[in-house]
Amino acid sequence: MTVYSEDVLATIDAVRADVAALHAELVRYGLVVWTGGNVSGRVPGTDLFVIKPSGVSYDDLAPENMILCELDGNVVPGTPGSERSPSSDTAAHAYVYRHMPEVGGVVHTHSTYAVAWSARGEEIPCVITAMADEFGGPIPVGPFAIIGDDSIGRGIVETLRGHRSRAVLMKNHGPFTIGVSAKDAVKAAVMVEDVARTVHIARQGGDLVPIAQDAIDRLYDRYQNVYGQAGDERRAGETDQ
Ligand SMILES: [Zn+2]
Repeated sequence: MTVYSEDVLATIDAVRADVAALHAELVRYGLVVWTGGNVSGRVPGTDLFVIKPSGVSYDDLAPENMILCELDGNVVPGTPGSERSPSSDTAAHAYVYRHMPEVGGVVHTHSTYAVAWSARGEEIPCVITAMADEFGGPIPVGPFAIIGDDSIGRGIVETLRGHRSRAVLMKNHGPFTIGVSAKDAVKAAVMVEDVARTVHIARQGGDLVPIAQDAIDRLYDRYQNVYGQAGDERRAGETDQ
């Protein structure tokens, strides 16, 4: 069995607490039903990540039942929570961590409006400034992929690598989001559902009005680099504008 240093153990514990607490945000924002949805977080400085167990009620999620995994997706045996199976989406999260070293967190939900766009295989056009701020353009659609191998992870990476958006709508399935941290990925999951709902409702009333690309670029640059408090993990502020 791998023996971790005191520093690594403390870091693992901090990520367990963080990932367990962030699951409550999925419930708070109405993004999940039953035991669906999952959050994971990379353990900084290691080849490990922490993810939700499969099939456990949101009320019962706690730091000690989060599951520690290697980047190949295998559970680290003998660690707290390891007697349970990890989320059925663990292979997809692991694939993202292996191929996108800048990613510190991954989230997946079946939030209603984002899934509705996925079901149509339609990207969400960038027609509101909040979306330009947060995602820098449209929310792209990823390929149709079935759980059980690397194909979901590969689809996420191929769609989001080099893309400004931290969210992808996997076709006929739903949103996966990435971030510099688990919290950042949860924020993206909340925001993608918000823009999916708003743009859907807007289209019911008439034609959508596009935003010029240079305006999108300026909004994105300002929000990502200037707006917010110095020292914020993305320097992207809270959406109080
Ligand atoms: Zn799913």
